[in-house]
Amino acid sequence: MLIFMNQKWHAVKSNFIALTVILWFALFLSAMSVLVFNEYRNQEKIFNNKSAAITELVHQRLIQSEVVVGSIETILHIFDVIPFYGMEPSPNAKLAQFPHQHSLTKQSATTEFESLFKASASGLSLIDINAMPTLNIEAGNFDAVLFNRLRGYVKDIIVQYPYITSVTIEPRVEREEVTQFEEHAKSMLAMNYKIKSINQEPISRIDSIDTKANSTNPHSVFPHAFYYPVTFKEPIAKSDMKQLGVDMYDDPIWRDAIDRSIRTQKYAITKPFTVNNDRVFGLLKAVFATATPSTDVEIRHAQAAHVLSITINPIKLLSSDEMPSPNTMVKIDSGYFLNRSSNDTIAIFNPGAAPQLNRNWSNFLFPVFHYSHRNMNVQQPYLIESSRQVGWELFSGTATVISALISLGVALLAAALIRIRDQQKELTHNTNDIIFREKERALVTLHSINDAVLTLDSFGCINYANAAALTALHKDMDSINGLHVGRVLNLHYDFASSAIPDPIQTCLNEERIVDFPENTVLNIEQGLHQLIEGSISPLFNLDHRCIGAVLVFRDLGPARKKALAAIEASEKRLRQHQAELAHVTRLTTMGEMASGIAHEINQPLTAILSYNQACIRLIQEEHPDKEEIIRAMQSAALQAKRAGKIISRLRSFVTKKRAPVELIQINQLIQNVLTLIEHDLRDHEIAIDIDLIQSPALIAADGIQVEQVILNVIRNAMEAMSDVEPPQKVITIRSTQEFDRVAVSIKDHGSGIAKDDADQLFNPFFTTKKDGMGLGLTISTSIVESYGGQLSARNLEHGGAEFIVTFPIFKANTTVLSVTSNFNV
Ligand code: ADP
Repeated sequence: MLIFMNQKWHAVKSNFIALTVILWFALFLSAMSVLVFNEYRNQEKIFNNKSAAITELVHQRLIQSEVVVGSIETILHIFDVIPFYGMEPSPNAKLAQFPHQHSLTKQSATTEFESLFKASASGLSLIDINAMPTLNIEAGNFDAVLFNRLRGYVKDIIVQYPYITSVTIEPRVEREEVTQFEEHAKSMLAMNYKIKSINQEPISRIDSIDTKANSTNPHSVFPHAFYYPVTFKEPIAKSDMKQLGVDMYDDPIWRDAIDRSIRTQKYAITKPFTVNNDRVFGLLKAVFATATPSTDVEIRHAQAAHVLSITINPIKLLSSDEMPSPNTMVKIDSGYFLNRSSNDTIAIFNPGAAPQLNRNWSNFLFPVFHYSHRNMNVQQPYLIESSRQVGWELFSGTATVISALISLGVALLAAALIRIRDQQKELTHNTNDIIFREKERALVTLHSINDAVLTLDSFGCINYANAAALTALHKDMDSINGLHVGRVLNLHYDFASSAIPDPIQTCLNEERIVDFPENTVLNIEQGLHQLIEGSISPLFNLDHRCIGAVLVFRDLGPARKKALAAIEASEKRLRQHQAELAHVTRLTTMGEMASGIAHEINQPLTAILSYNQACIRLIQEEHPDKEEIIRAMQSAALQAKRAGKIISRLRSFVTKKRAPVELIQINQLIQNVLTLIEHDLRDHEIAIDIDLIQSPALIAADGIQVEQVILNVIRNAMEAMSDVEPPQKVITIRSTQEFDRVAVSIKDHGSGIAKDDADQLFNPFFTTKKDGMGLGLTISTSIVESYGGQLSARNLEHGGAEFIVTFPIFKANTTVLSVTSNFNV
């Protein structure tokens, strides 16, 4: 049992744990999904915000770069000469005016200066503002100090804006001015200065038209109508001096941008190109010699006196900590250029980090954020794109632990609730099962019993009838279901002198069990009726409210027949018993007779003896009197005949054979005797107080004889109480068992035994009664003793006498004495 319970408990426990784990897993996954999704949204928002912010930053920095170019242009307007200062000027160099055909206009310079001033005020320029008003613009005569300031300004710009990697100035040089320009430059720089191609080739040597003719004089023929050679470059190292004189217009990338700027009169950018392994691009602006350039592009081309250009390294547009992700790209919108290529894309990325968006397994697990913004500025058509691979940062450690704990709690709770629900289900199922079984048992019982049963609702309408009821009523269930019982059960009461209240209604109204009156008759059909007995009991619900009734009745006909048969059988048994008892009585009487006869025989025998003695005496006389002897002999013969008669009378009386000894139970014999004298007791108003031991041991005797003993003692008790009145007129009968004996005690409240009589009570013929024979106790003693028992008597303390009969308990190996009445007379 214990093992079974243990197994059951283990099963319940493991089920519970499995359920908890599953629920926990499900809840944990759900919670983590929500958290990760939220974190994903959060990260996406942060990424988008950061991307938008850097887009704005990039945009601002690009505008700053335009402003830088604009500020240099303004400064350039101050000069009437071409600035050549890529390095410290030669101490011998004089500030001489190059007879430039496109000198910058002073008017526009003034206006531009003001805007420079404004730009400086807004912190875009580090130019010494205080020094500017002292410049004599009108004089147009600037010394080296002013150039140094320009140079200092540009240096400051490069320091302040790290993405601007260089600033260059290229004046327009017409073909016919080349030689003069080169000479002038040489004197300004104090070094050899030649206009050359981007490949550092002197411009004359790339002349494909007249190479032979000009081989001796490489400067005699110039392939282009004009040039934009570099005269000013900052920063510039000594080793890079060869960059001075390079014709920017010779480079298709720059040429394209220069043409565009001249055409649009605005800033223009170049396609990206590589410098020192960095992908960079140029931003330039054509500076016109006139304040109002011509509307004709050709003429305007000739008016473009200078080109101001800066080189921008987009990698430095953003510092690594400003970038939303290492995978941030700034692209120049390829649609901007005529000959577009994939190289037009410039990436901004953190050089320290991997620039590529690696496609690996985590890409399939985690999504990638994408951001894209197109700059609408037509001069700087940038496309800023950023993408970021999200990863394990979506899983916050604290959130994971908290959600694991919370989901564990919820899972435990849910599992417990489910367990309780299951238990309740099981309980309900068990309860339903019990109810079903009880109902089934009740129905089967009701179906199989012979009594008719009807159940009624609280209005007295039938809702169930068992088979016996349907048979008794000669109906089927459908025809009576729901009908009021009064319409189905037609009762009347035979020999009723007054109206009898309806038992059904009484039961429902008073909510108590009501028995049908004794003379209840059920009318079934025309002329068909039954005498019935039955009752109706109220039915209560849990709240003790009457919810209907159960009506039970049965046909008394068969019961009556059975009762009559039983009475007849018992009467038969009684008669037989009485016959047997009569026989015993006869035997008893025989005993009495024997005593009497013995008494009588004694007399003739005594007479015969005395006659015989007289005869002998007469014969012995000298002269015997013959007559006398004959008379005596005749008298003796007469006495002998009398004795013979007495004996034959006795023989004829005793004809029945002795009953054999049997094993009997004393209680049964007492009950038999009481049944026999029931009438007498009633006639004499004697009550019996009986107290019999449960299952006394058996005794071996003739039951009829023992009954005779008990009967005799009870009769004596009855006669002793003839003068006593009820309620004292009680005979108390007890059966007891002690050791090896069974005893029956019979007490009365009679006269008791007179002191003088006590000794002779059991003597034959002792009687104190007028009609008594005085043999009852003698014979009884003799019967009892013949079975090894005893009969004793004593007076009771408060009056009356007690007679006690004892018998030995039967033991299997005991030889039962043969019963003979051997009492002495
Ligand atoms: P009988 O009943 O014919 O007198 P019994 O032998 O039965 O003969 O009784 C002998 C006598 O014992 C009775 O006459 C009576 O005096 C006395 N006796 C017997 N039973 C009782 C008794 N229960 N109470 C008083 N005396 C009794």
